[in-house]
Amino acid sequence: MTSVVKQQADTLAWTYNIMFDLKLLPSRKLIKFNQQLPFFKWYYPFDTDEDRLPNPFLPLLAIKSLQTRRCAVYVHVPFCETICSFCPFTRGTYSSETEIQNYVAALPLEIDLKRRFVGRCKVDVIFVGGGIPSLLSPHQIESLGAAIHSNFDTRSLKEFTFESEVKSVTRGKLEAMHSIGVNRVSFGAQTFSDSYRKIFSLDASVAQVVNAAKLINERFDYTNVDMIYGMAGQTPKDLYQDAREALNLQTTTVDFYPLNNLAAQTRMHRTMRAVGLQHLPATERVQHRIRLDEFLRAQGYAPINGYSYSLAVGSQREVVQHSPKFYYHDVVYGYHDDAIIGYGSSALTQLPGYNLYNAADRADYVSRLLDKQILPFEAFAIPDCP
Ligand code: SF4
Repeated sequence: MTSVVKQQADTLAWTYNIMFDLKLLPSRKLIKFNQQLPFFKWYYPFDTDEDRLPNPFLPLLAIKSLQTRRCAVYVHVPFCETICSFCPFTRGTYSSETEIQNYVAALPLEIDLKRRFVGRCKVDVIFVGGGIPSLLSPHQIESLGAAIHSNFDTRSLKEFTFESEVKSVTRGKLEAMHSIGVNRVSFGAQTFSDSYRKIFSLDASVAQVVNAAKLINERFDYTNVDMIYGMAGQTPKDLYQDAREALNLQTTTVDFYPLNNLAAQTRMHRTMRAVGLQHLPATERVQHRIRLDEFLRAQGYAPINGYSYSLAVGSQREVVQHSPKFYYHDVVYGYHDDAIIGYGSSALTQLPGYNLYNAADRADYVSRLLDKQILPFEAFAIPDCP
């Protein structure tokens, strides 16, 4: 076993220890998020140095002949005002507005430079995620929208999502999103419990969540709220209370994600431990999933994918097949010949046979684009699956 493989196997064993509560490696301490095996970022087969392409532009040049089934565009906005302790995403705080301005200036440059290789691709779905995309000003939102529409063929666009954070939502920003064609706005509530909100370092009040939901629902027909379940110590009563309050927001869909204990930060685990909360055994987390499913179906909701529920139409429907549908989710978890073109620091581009990774460091990403006018990415071939 090579040392890299052994290290991965060791980390994997430790991971399962945490995830499934097997207590196989009790001596291992919690390790930092950025040193953990990136579960959320595994794309099979794994990229190795041997698969790195000497000419990273090859996949972009080949895109027209790849015959992709559907094409999604992902734009990453990596800025947050504060960092939530459960957060598994690539993001960070910022020291000045200038940082955001420079980043927003670099994005259209990346879009334009890539277009020179891929042409004006037909795009089915756009997802602007983060971080907090709603930190952008109305003007910045409009500029981003203009760059997208002038560099892609968006005539048959089915879905355009903008992720938002409740404190940063304003009518002006929602209008700007609407004006660039956004038709789905998603925001996080995560939990309504004061104690878990504190543990998660969520600094918006529940009243701010409710107000933002109202504003977003007024402007958009398709809205979504993200919720988390499976926290240490969460009882069925806590779970039902959160589910009830999430439905009260009256968004089109509600997404319930299990807390990812592995990707969460050490401080979340420390705080939970300090207040005496015990991690739920895997069986109880599965039970919570079943409880949620039963509860939501009893309220007239049905699943539209693995996480998302929407009001069912027709009492006999087991699964909602009609609109709303979360198309971006479909493409991300879709077919081998679906394509995602990523923009922004740390964004991933997945093309049939290739993975392309953008520079994860924000300053490096901005500098390579603004100072050197070069695309900040490396590319890997995906060997044929056996
Ligand atoms: S959950 Fe969202 S707002 Fe919180 S740190 Fe992560 S990206 Fe930022």
